[in-house]
Amino acid sequence: MPTLFSKIISREIPAQIVYEDEHLLAFKDINPQAPVHVLFIPREEIASADALEDRHAELVGRLVLAAGRYAREAGIAEDGYRLVMNTNEHGGQTVFHLHLHLIGGRPMSWPPG
Ligand code: 5GP
Repeated sequence: MPTLFSKIISREIPAQIVYEDEHLLAFKDINPQAPVHVLFIPREEIASADALEDRHAELVGRLVLAAGRYAREAGIAEDGYRLVMNTNEHGGQTVFHLHLHLIGGRPMSWPPG
């Protein structure tokens, strides 16, 4: 099912895109929770982490690697950051196009609420 993230991929909705390649796209979250808050999404429409299949293993790796690369370039990697994939209702997912949150630039607490 197409979501608004598909429209960001097709440029129907504007976003601050910070990285893209043939597999994935990264753009700034519209409602940032920290000084750095970027969403890494596959071009393929995958609803959530719960819908991932074995064939997506490399793609998931690419999302994580791209996020780590961005964190290093943004200068937040040494201090640390958080990678989050909210999944389905209890996970707090609101957009059903798989996305990896990169959140950093400030200290964070654990556990989540
Ligand atoms: P979720 O709650 O599904 O894990 O995260 C969805 C994220 O997408 C939220 O952090 C929300 O702020 C972000 N978001 C929702 N709509 C838009 C939009 O139109 N543009 C951008 N850049 N981010 C959005």
